[in-house]
Amino acid sequence: MKKFRFSFPPYEKMMSNIAQDIGIDLGTAYSLVYVKGKGIVVTEPSVVAINKRTNQLLAIGNEARKMVGRTPSHIVAVRPLVDGVVSDFEVTEAMLKHFIDKVHRSNFVLVPRPRVVIGIPYGVTEVERRAVEEAALSAGARQVFLIEEPLAAAIGARLPVQDPTGQLIIDIGGGTTEVAVISLGGIVTSRSLRIAGNELTEDIMNYARDKHNLLLGETTAENIKINIGSAIPLEKPLQDHMRGRDLVTGLPKQITVSDSEIREAMKGSVRQIVEAVKSTIEEAPPELVADIMEKGAVLAGGGALLRGLDKLLQVQTNMKVHIADDPLTCVAIGTGTVLEELDNLKEVLLPSQYNPV
Ligand code: ADP
Ligand code: MG
Repeated sequence: MKKFRFSFPPYEKMMSNIAQDIGIDLGTAYSLVYVKGKGIVVTEPSVVAINKRTNQLLAIGNEARKMVGRTPSHIVAVRPLVDGVVSDFEVTEAMLKHFIDKVHRSNFVLVPRPRVVIGIPYGVTEVERRAVEEAALSAGARQVFLIEEPLAAAIGARLPVQDPTGQLIIDIGGGTTEVAVISLGGIVTSRSLRIAGNELTEDIMNYARDKHNLLLGETTAENIKINIGSAIPLEKPLQDHMRGRDLVTGLPKQITVSDSEIREAMKGSVRQIVEAVKSTIEEAPPELVADIMEKGAVLAGGGALLRGLDKLLQVQTNMKVHIADDPLTCVAIGTGTVLEELDNLKEVLLPSQYNPV
């Protein structure tokens, strides 16, 4: 059933002045919520806990994350967006509802439902796009706008995306690395690689298992990556402890590990990320490549924080590479900027069946 909706301008204007419009970055690792006029108000892991016996959703976000690796066998903690693509409609809808409610519930009933801008991975199909839109509408949004994540990241990093000059954005998240050349408010060439932060963490787990017969938990491995991980040799060597279970004795074991061992463990994945950047540049029109050479590329997402990755990319691509000011929040800030300047930035949004732009 199609709901009757007012849409003449004065009503919309009035509504957007009192409604708390929100921007959502549905990341594969973390989801962030931006409220117009306030900034980022929620950061929670993109994790959902489900009871497999009853098909019931038990917890979302922080609550669900606490259950990872600690659940009885009939309860599973899943990351529904793990490859950056929206696969499960119901779970996505529940996640969106959770985030919209978090911001919206604190208000009076009379406050109108929010308009929502959502960053979605580049290259999702039209069917998936519609699924996200419908999920957001049934989760309580009054109007939904979708934006491709690389564009949102570039806007969040304050790149002039609407200019007729080439911009290169490299967003390394948990599940995917997205590399995009942007000009005139759109994506000219891009590449999405399913190798990113999670893969680097897995590389460390595999290394510990293969070299030391040591079974590491995911969080432990991620912490080692964050504490001592690097893409190029460091000036000052770093060390950390790998604590896990000895696969031979079954007992707890601790091993000291150096930055060079961890670098070696992640080398293959890092190389693939570099190759994805190189081949995106190779496919870009020469005029845009000249622009990028002049201004440099911008690195966003949590993976941007891997020590020396900017330098490695710089050497390998022969271009300057800058890390965005706050790489973990770029996409959320970008969706928020779109909300704040909707009239001006409308053309960067994806066309939608509900809001033709
Ligand atoms: P997504 O947008 O997919 O949710 P994020 O941009 O939030 O992903 O990045 C999450 C990834 O970044 C995780 O794999 C995390 O381990 C990694 N990460 C976060 N901080 C660092 C750091 N300091 N060094 C290396 N990797 C990091
Ligand atoms: Mg992201």
